[in-house]
Amino acid sequence: MDEVETWLRQWERRLGTGMADPVVQANVGMFRPRRVVGTLCPDDVEQVRAIVGSAVKGVTLYPLSTGHNWGLGSREPVRDGAVVLDLRRLDRVRLLDLDLGVAVVEPGVTQGRLAGLLSDSSYMLNVTASSAHTSIVGNALERGVGLRRQRCEDVAGMEVVLADGRLIRLGNWPDEEGRVVPYGHEVGPALMPLFAQSNLGVVTAAVIRLLPRPRALHLVRLTFDASRLATVVDELRDCHGQRLISGILKIYQPPESEECVAYCCVDGDPELAALSCALLMRRVERTRLFDDVHDYVGDEQLPGQLRRCLSGDPSWNELVLENWFGTSSRGIDANPGNGYLFFLPLLPFQGAAVARARALVREVCAETGTQWRATVNAISYDVIDLVVSCLFPKAMAAQAHRALDLLHRRFADCGWRPYRLDVDHMSAGGPPDVLRRLKEVFDPRNVLAPGRYEPP
Ligand SMILES: Cc1cc2nc3c(=O)[nH]c(=O)nc-3n(C[C@H](O)[C@H](O)[C@H](O)COP(=O)(O)OP(=O)(O)OC[C@H]3O[C@@H](n4cnc5c(N)ncnc54)[C@H](O)[C@@H]3O)c2cc1C
Repeated sequence: MDEVETWLRQWERRLGTGMADPVVQANVGMFRPRRVVGTLCPDDVEQVRAIVGSAVKGVTLYPLSTGHNWGLGSREPVRDGAVVLDLRRLDRVRLLDLDLGVAVVEPGVTQGRLAGLLSDSSYMLNVTASSAHTSIVGNALERGVGLRRQRCEDVAGMEVVLADGRLIRLGNWPDEEGRVVPYGHEVGPALMPLFAQSNLGVVTAAVIRLLPRPRALHLVRLTFDASRLATVVDELRDCHGQRLISGILKIYQPPESEECVAYCCVDGDPELAALSCALLMRRVERTRLFDDVHDYVGDEQLPGQLRRCLSGDPSWNELVLENWFGTSSRGIDANPGNGYLFFLPLLPFQGAAVARARALVREVCAETGTQWRATVNAISYDVIDLVVSCLFPKAMAAQAHRALDLLHRRFADCGWRPYRLDVDHMSAGGPPDVLRRLKEVFDPRNVLAPGRYEPP
């Protein structure tokens, strides 16, 4: 037994095996399976510190929270030979302040669990469209996108175990009496962002800012022909900029049809929301761009799911996963039928860009015989996160991955880069020499997640 194996076996003995939920090796994205030398599931922060601090030469650790990074690699480390540091057992809600609207959660706390704790309160969580069993911390560290805003905007503080086992707290952290000002910056150079999309530390808890729950919520559904996509995007950008729309504006472009559907959330005080909704509808009707304008009240699956997510309830998201993969979130990675991939470029919030992106996606579909759908997520008045996704029969994995490579290249040619990357396309946009020096400062032994968001 070499030194690495001896170290690993010692930790396995100390932590014990027998997890209720066995570790799955497959990944639904059908990325090349990495060689994983072991998985350690610590119970608390002190164990995380001891594992990281005691790592002998040759050990690399790949931390993850719940490991449901579907479409981007799931639980796969970027490089071969890592020990997965699975933090799902760190699942305490350390603080829940329902006067101020703040929670402190560990990586194993799922969005479904925190949303449930808030269900009768005047606050809600900014939830994503992914499973209720996904991690709030894991998603925020990928700068994931919730229905209200990008998840990193929810984070006001972070607890991080550094590569030598030291524990630091960044941003604003509650004192012993639980008092905190949920402001996401320290005075001076901001350090917290260094730990999102990076490999500089293991995050063991985060301060999460909750959102006031709106007292009324309208979902305006706008149907239009794809030939008007560019004009519609520009029109809706103005509505968004004038605050007639709140949350993330979504525009669905089903691959099999020319009919596009936009969903606009209008919410807040009931009287104000009703007035804004009437105003938005009057305004868009006047444009004659839309075939149907509707203050949607029904419960069809997609708008029903969106309405719930916008209200901080991710419970319907599971239905979509079950429809696509024929299994609950636990079985997605190993499901025998379908694979799933994401390509997530950022575009300027401009009609011409969205129309061009639609054409690029269609070209790649035609060239590879695959089917990708592109959903507009307007994350601000000036930036769109285009969610380009492919649900494919596993037998077509090679074509789907060829299409993914082509999408990366074609969008890069237009200057549009992804906001987040899968395990096969990892790189980093910052100056390589600065990033390498940061890694030397924080993790000189290169223990943590080699290859994750590193310069090429
Ligand atoms: C149908 C469907 C819908 C989806 N909708 C959305 C959506 O609306 N928005 C969205 O953002 N995503 C979405 N996803 C993608 C994905 O499922 C989510 O982003 C999910 O939250 C990521 O998995 P996780 O929370 O388990 O994080 P993890 O997989 O645990 O973490 C992601 C990565 O972050 C790093 N990391 C995690 N925890 C730590 C830690 N504690 N310390 C250091 N590094 C860490 C690791 O490198 C890890 O690989 C969707 C997926 C599907 C299939």
